[in-house]
Amino acid sequence: MNILIFGPPGSGKSTHSKRIVERYGLTYISSGDIIREEIEKGSPIGREMEAYLSRGELIPDTIVNTLIISKLRRQRENFILDGYPRTPAQVLAFEEYLYDHGIKLDLAMEIFIDLETSVERISGRRICPKCGAVYHVKHNPPKRPGVCDICGSKLVQREDDRPDVVEKRYSIYVRNMEPIIKFYRNKGIYVRIDGDGGVEEVWKRIQPLLDYLKARESSQGLP
Ligand SMILES: [Zn+2]
Repeated sequence: MNILIFGPPGSGKSTHSKRIVERYGLTYISSGDIIREEIEKGSPIGREMEAYLSRGELIPDTIVNTLIISKLRRQRENFILDGYPRTPAQVLAFEEYLYDHGIKLDLAMEIFIDLETSVERISGRRICPKCGAVYHVKHNPPKRPGVCDICGSKLVQREDDRPDVVEKRYSIYVRNMEPIIKFYRNKGIYVRIDGDGGVEEVWKRIQPLLDYLKARESSQGLP
């Protein structure tokens, strides 16, 4: 089973990716994680990417493609891919790779929430700068407002989580993903999951779909 997962900020895609990994034994490949790792390692490609980011520029598609596809080559099948492809040029490289290796993509799954929900979920986040604990003013509040339950430090809001920044991130997501969603919709593998509601509620929408794909895959494997 090979899956793409994407969604606007606060969609819960990383939470659900973890569940999918556990239940279906897929390997989670996140472009964000891979890019961070390379930068931390200080590899030649990592240093190059860092230079783009420090200038406030996007990392060129050719670099992202090289990085993700080399990771995919090692994994081959049974992956859940997060954060890639994000541009038409990335779709092209990815599709070419899949075609060349006879790999079939089963599902392009978007966990969708509206702008209002995105802002509410993200801008309510508070993190502890000392121990890294994460809270939400409404959904997961600390016992004392603004104070970490674990270490007693004062909680802060990340710059990226401010409502105006979330709105911007959301609109960039929608704009960037539009042609990509169109492409996978035309291929007949795009599914939009309603990401509104609690984790369990959303999971109940995802699980039957993946169970179905899994069953279909194993019946195809029979002689
Ligand atoms: Zn703390």
